[in-house]
Amino acid sequence: MTFRATILTLYPDMFPGPLSQSLAGRAMSEGTWSLDTVQIRDFALDKHRSVDDTPAGGGAGMVMRPDVLARAIDTTAPAEDPRPRLLMSPRGKPLTQAKVRELADGPGAIILCGRFEGVDQRLIDSRQLEEVSIGDYILSGGEIAALVLLDAVVRLLPGVMGNDQSGTEESFENGLLEHPHYTRPTVFEDQPIPDVLLSGNHKKIAAWRRAKAEEITRERRPDLWEAHLQNRR
Ligand code: SAH
Repeated sequence: MTFRATILTLYPDMFPGPLSQSLAGRAMSEGTWSLDTVQIRDFALDKHRSVDDTPAGGGAGMVMRPDVLARAIDTTAPAEDPRPRLLMSPRGKPLTQAKVRELADGPGAIILCGRFEGVDQRLIDSRQLEEVSIGDYILSGGEIAALVLLDAVVRLLPGVMGNDQSGTEESFENGLLEHPHYTRPTVFEDQPIPDVLLSGNHKKIAAWRRAKAEEITRERRPDLWEAHLQNRR
């Protein structure tokens, strides 16, 4: 089954962008996933093809018009389309690996990329858009956020990663950050690879990695560590 992404944007040329390369690019040419873009401006209603207007109540910037966006959504993603409708937005639920996995298990996504100050609230409500944030900072538009989300999803699609194990052992998959990695040379600038990793004792290696993952999570991300402890109780 193909994971289908439809992106509504004022900048369709930004896609697939970096997703045409590497793992995602190969998966796309193999038909594992597809991406189409919809130019929001094509659904404008006036001769100036305007997509935004000044904010009700005053203030800086412009707001994306609900009537134009509704036409774009309804034409390209009718109500019976089973795919989740996402709006990239700093006010959304922060994207997590669990959410990425949920999306990767589904049929695809319809993703609206905001610009200017954002989108008229009535559109968000009436088209039941699920707001998703990629972090607590402000981008100039939703396009790069959509690329981030898709990159995270596509690498989890069946067959995309060479070694399917590597998907389940990573940071966040078990609520912990990942252990450190080493490779040859065995000594780099006087620093050897930890002995245990060269011991060939797989039980000991797994225990060492687990202990390191816990240590790093505890030090760097007290929030994740707390959640991890809660889950174990
Ligand atoms: N005025 C808004 C920010 C608008 S930024 C506010 O203060 O909340 C313009 C667009 O960029 C947004 O509509 C959204 O689509 C996108 N965007 C910006 N930051 C983002 C983030 N952290 N995650 C996801 N999308 C983001």
